[in-house]
Amino acid sequence: MERRDFCRLLTGVMTALGIARTAGHVHAQTLQPTPSCPDGAEPTARQTEGPYFKPASPERASLLEPGMKGVRVVVTGVVRLASCQPVSRALVDVWHADDRGDYDNAGYRLRGHQFTDDQGRYRLETIVPGVYPGRTRHFHLKVQAPKGPVLTTQLYFPGEAANASDPIFKRELVLRVRDGAEGKTATFDFVLRA
Ligand code: FE
Repeated sequence: MERRDFCRLLTGVMTALGIARTAGHVHAQTLQPTPSCPDGAEPTARQTEGPYFKPASPERASLLEPGMKGVRVVVTGVVRLASCQPVSRALVDVWHADDRGDYDNAGYRLRGHQFTDDQGRYRLETIVPGVYPGRTRHFHLKVQAPKGPVLTTQLYFPGEAANASDPIFKRELVLRVRDGAEGKTATFDFVLRA
């Protein structure tokens, strides 16, 4: 057998045994019984709730109201466990500033919650939040599997100058955003601790 063929054979055997060659080192890996999550299974980072959360928001998937100013955005994604399993009936509660950077602390404008469908999906219609002093552009959210712990976090927008100077900002919490004719579309998948 030629050396080249032997190397191919060895590589094939190593692959079959779940042994990966990484940066010149050979080490064993645990084979996953199912395909891994496309974005990895790290639980979504927790973030501070901030001063403007209000409980008992209305159940609604659209926070849009007649005459509301701002750029429309539709945010979609999946809530799942670290095992990749989608979570149906997960709570997705959102609150955020209006296009001028103000929160409605008297009522429930730009506040609402919904529950994921049987495939763990949510779909939120709202406007792009305005910025306010000290913070970059962000949504606040609480996400919770039925009877599970509450994940309190925030989501961010790509390409914002203030991302670099906001001490709370986390790169892994940036939405994937596209511009469309009707406004923006954005996606983010949440991974909950069991
Ligand atoms: Fe805020």
